[in-house]
Amino acid sequence: MKRLLVIILCSLFGLGLFFFWLIPHGVDRFQNAILQNGTGTSLPLHRELRVVDLHADTLLWDRDLLVRGARGHVDLPRLQEGNVALQVFSVVTKSPRGLNTEANSSATDNISILAVAQRWPLGAWKSLLERALYQADKLGRAIQDSEGQLRWIKTRKDLEMLLEDRKQNPGLVGALLALEGAHALEGSLSSLNLLEAAGFRLLAPTHMFDSEISGSQQGQDKGGLSELGRAWVLEMNRRQLIIDLAHASSRTITEVLVLSTRPVVVSHTGLNAVCPSNRNLSDEQIKGIAASGGLIGIGYWDEAICGRDYHAVARSLRHLIEVGGVRVAALGSDWDGFVTTVTDASGLAELTKALVEEKFTEDEIRAVMGENALRFLLEQLPSP
Ligand SMILES: [Zn+2]
Repeated sequence: MKRLLVIILCSLFGLGLFFFWLIPHGVDRFQNAILQNGTGTSLPLHRELRVVDLHADTLLWDRDLLVRGARGHVDLPRLQEGNVALQVFSVVTKSPRGLNTEANSSATDNISILAVAQRWPLGAWKSLLERALYQADKLGRAIQDSEGQLRWIKTRKDLEMLLEDRKQNPGLVGALLALEGAHALEGSLSSLNLLEAAGFRLLAPTHMFDSEISGSQQGQDKGGLSELGRAWVLEMNRRQLIIDLAHASSRTITEVLVLSTRPVVVSHTGLNAVCPSNRNLSDEQIKGIAASGGLIGIGYWDEAICGRDYHAVARSLRHLIEVGGVRVAALGSDWDGFVTTVTDASGLAELTKALVEEKFTEDEIRAVMGENALRFLLEQLPSP
């Protein structure tokens, strides 16, 4: 009898360990891998840059943002090692099973199991809005405990102050909060009140599947904006929130470019002419986004850039500049977004090195690595 009890307890312990530790940590380690270690090169030019990255899904994972981790891509120490001035933290709230680049249904969801395995609060097990608010809260707690090293950027003024203070303290890192898919609004524009109050400033209409707002290029129908979607665009404009068209269907991109009175970003993508893929942007889309005064962030994973090193990122950036002009070009790693990237945040100097080797001018390097994004955000974030 006693032996049986021991066996049952051991089995329960084993199951618990598997579910609450191995699942989240194993998935994180396996899904967010890197191809090479950052060498932390002391390239003087990289230390002078003001680096901005437009997309990382770090808040999804069970990690301490303030401690240098052994898995995944981003935390404060690694951002500091990579000399990143501003990181956009994007929040994922739903991810269908069997994810692919062509067509995903919204019927299934992998985040539910991750939410339970990571012991998220009960409300966040089911509600997509609660998941978004919970991850925003996680960022808020990290910022609070960071002794001023990690700063929340919600307004133009916040960004101006960060850039000013970084002159004395280059270890300061800004954090901007983004939402990957407006399905987290749960069908109601009034959810924007809560999301805006929680600090979200950059919002995408869709992620990997069609939402109530618009079609996704990886959805089943790939339609344009719904009626709610059109109202969403106008409401985003009115609130001075930034629209992110990463993952949006071609029709949605065209319609938003016509409807929106403010420029848009595509935070993390590749380019069709360099790397043909259903998800990547056409030259015509590059021109449209550039003409709006927008930004396009190039990702660091193989399916985006058809390559496994920073020279491949450089090739996409070169094409982007040739087609859309230098002002549109930016970085959108997709760190911690279920992708294998070239390096983690600590190794970003390797990208600067690759850009130098690929004969980018110093002005182009500064623009691409962060100045374009800073100029955009200083104009587009809510004032003051
Ligand atoms: Zn994404």
